[in-house]
Amino acid sequence: MSLIEYKGNKYKPCPYCKGKGYKNGYEHVRNGICFQCEGYKSVEIFNLIENTRKEMQKEKEVEYRYSEIKRLRLLLGGKKESDMKAIDKSRLSLLKRNEEALIRQGIPLPEKCQDEE
Ligand SMILES: [Zn+2]
Repeated sequence: MSLIEYKGNKYKPCPYCKGKGYKNGYEHVRNGICFQCEGYKSVEIFNLIENTRKEMQKEKEVEYRYSEIKRLRLLLGGKKESDMKAIDKSRLSLLKRNEEALIRQGIPLPEKCQDEE
């Protein structure tokens, strides 16, 4: 079995489909696409692509949380929790949830801008 080339690197062929990306006789299940390498012909390539996809998802999530945090900070406008009405209290708890999710992942919180003060 020869190595599979992907973006200039060579990878071990999938042991299950022998680097073909599909299994003969399994056409009735997902068109025969190999369930180990998902058609990428190498499990290593599949894992590489999967990790890239997860990284991108994480980036999107961080982007979303950043925009939420900024939006909520702006809405709350530095009000004291004791002066807050119900709607602001729920905004505050949403803000905290977004901040905590970032902290859990070790991602720094967005800086407070002056126009948010
Ligand atoms: Zn395979």
